[in-house]
Amino acid sequence: MRFLVTGGAGYIGSHTCVELLNAGYDITVVDNLYNSKRASLDRVKEITGKDFKFFECDIRDKEGLTKAFKEDKIDAVIHFAGLKAVGESVYKPLEYYDNNIGGTLTLCEVMRENGCKNIVFSSSATVYGTENESPLNEEMKTGGTTNPYGTTKYMIELILKDLYVADNEWSITLLRYFNPIGAHESGKIGENPNGIPNNLLPYVTQVAIGKLPCLTVFGNDYDTPDGTCIRDYIHVVDLAKGHLKALEDSFKSNRVEVFNLGTGNGYSVLQIIEAFEKACGFKLNYKIGPRRAGDLARLYSNPTKAKEKLGWVAEKNIDDMCADSWRWQKNNPNGFED
Ligand code: NAD
Ligand code: UDP
Repeated sequence: MRFLVTGGAGYIGSHTCVELLNAGYDITVVDNLYNSKRASLDRVKEITGKDFKFFECDIRDKEGLTKAFKEDKIDAVIHFAGLKAVGESVYKPLEYYDNNIGGTLTLCEVMRENGCKNIVFSSSATVYGTENESPLNEEMKTGGTTNPYGTTKYMIELILKDLYVADNEWSITLLRYFNPIGAHESGKIGENPNGIPNNLLPYVTQVAIGKLPCLTVFGNDYDTPDGTCIRDYIHVVDLAKGHLKALEDSFKSNRVEVFNLGTGNGYSVLQIIEAFEKACGFKLNYKIGPRRAGDLARLYSNPTKAKEKLGWVAEKNIDDMCADSWRWQKNNPNGFED
């Protein structure tokens, strides 16, 4: 079987490519390298000892994308390609709607034209909005997103559900990720953000390596045991494995299915700092700052559905996540340099 991976050069995509190749599948990667480097794909080849096809192409480029589908029969698409910076999306809504939604529409059109009607989509816990109480489960109401990035995820979920209503030959899987962190244990691939990171873990690793002077903890006056926000951090390799389980399930019947991919465990910012200090063996320079606008006190998953229907559970713990993040950063202080 051959899977086409959009955004396969990115953080989660590259780790998923490793798992797909290791499981013996053929893959075709499509990425415009807007937020990634070709070197990450070279590293995927190094880790797996396997080669694969790569199309440097924007998924909004219908002609370019069609070429990838014409070269080989594609059995399913795993759709990671998208812009993902929450803060930036507030300032660039048109770019986010065009890239994420426009890209998905073109992708689905090309898939349909080429007889491929199986898609696994990278959604996010952000679609649960701000009103639901954690643990979040798939039955809860979605919407009420608070930024254009989140709204693109919510809207794409609606679009894909409508697609199934119109044509039930599609098999559609919506995977709602919680907070992916960590890196491949080889230390060869990992998260490589452009500029100053927005997310906690890449910020922590860059402080630890000395690229940034100090981490600011965004608020310690939340209604949580230590006052800092709680999130459901999940190792990116566990997340990648979740995609394989979701793919297996997607071929059993045509359907729309939604799965949370999280551990079900919440960790506070201070607990993450503590776990990271244990992993790197020294104290991290941090200070307490004001709250960040829009942050919820606690956000974590109920991962039961993925366990029961897919037979998937996250296996790695917070110490593994921090150790692997640190190994990646230490081995690659400047990320992928090509
Ligand atoms: P990433 O930026 O590392 O990877 C996305 C990849 O898509 C990049 O390689 C980028 O170059 C490519 N891309 C973007 N727009 C494209 C386009 N129009 N055509 C072709 N390629 C394009 O991000 P990631 O962290 O690996 O996230 C993957 C997916 O998972 C995204 O859709 C993201 O929104 C979603 N997601 C990520 C997180 C997270 O915390 N990392 C959480 C929830 C959901
Ligand atoms: N956070 C922080 N300092 C930072 C970045 C993040 O204290 O420099 C906190 C943030 O307030 C949140 C948690 O870390 O409680 C995870 O933030 P991230 O942006 O990684 O993920 P998200 O907010 O999307 O869950």
